[in-house]
Amino acid sequence: MNTIKEKLTNLKATFDTTLVTLIAVSKTYPIATIKEAYQLGLRDFGENKVQEMTEKYEQLPKDVKWHLIGHLQTNKVKFIAPFVHLIHGVDSLKLLQEINKQAAKCERIINCLLQVYIADEETKFGLTYDECLQILNAPDLKLLQNIKIVGLMGIATNTDDQTKIHNEFKSLNSYFNKIKVKICNNQIDFKFLSMGMSNDYAIAIAEGSNMIRVGSAIFGSRLYL
Ligand SMILES: *Cc1c(COP(=O)(O)O)cnc(C)c1O
Repeated sequence: MNTIKEKLTNLKATFDTTLVTLIAVSKTYPIATIKEAYQLGLRDFGENKVQEMTEKYEQLPKDVKWHLIGHLQTNKVKFIAPFVHLIHGVDSLKLLQEINKQAAKCERIINCLLQVYIADEETKFGLTYDECLQILNAPDLKLLQNIKIVGLMGIATNTDDQTKIHNEFKSLNSYFNKIKVKICNNQIDFKFLSMGMSNDYAIAIAEGSNMIRVGSAIFGSRLYL
């Protein structure tokens, strides 16, 4: 078994770390494991559950950038608003309004990504391209001074069909670029395209990703309890 250090070195050798942000997805892994990754220089960590992220935030150095990559319920926004770095899974204007409200209380501006549905699996959350445009063009968005929408996030179908994965990421990249050239204002500034996980990050980067969310390829396989 390779150590985290070896896995990380191997992983980083496969892409340009100056162009692509690596988020180490630490969900389900213990504090000691995350500390080891921190010692190796990682600062961006991804969690999919609010409570788990909050507990880990309390136990790790304060220069960690915490990414919420899972589905976020409006009633839980308040727990992460004081410290979250980037919320990847935003899928409604209502959620943006709550993030804005809690961010204002903390005197922060919270960066968000809209989650776009690109897979053909029923379980994946997300918006269609048209629904993204509806949110981005909503007059009410201008009232939300404490949020910024900085890009899109998507999850490809879990399949061995490489062509299918390429095509899903390609469509997300085209949505990203269309919006980026069309819309830029106080609340919208497209910079990040979050796509790619352990099994498909190379395809995602080939299709234009500049932010990958990698867990098991760094930490080893997860034990689901
Ligand atoms: C768990 C998870 C990842 C990381 O998955 P790995 O296969 O371990 O790399 C990435 N993105 C999201 C949204 C996840 O829930």
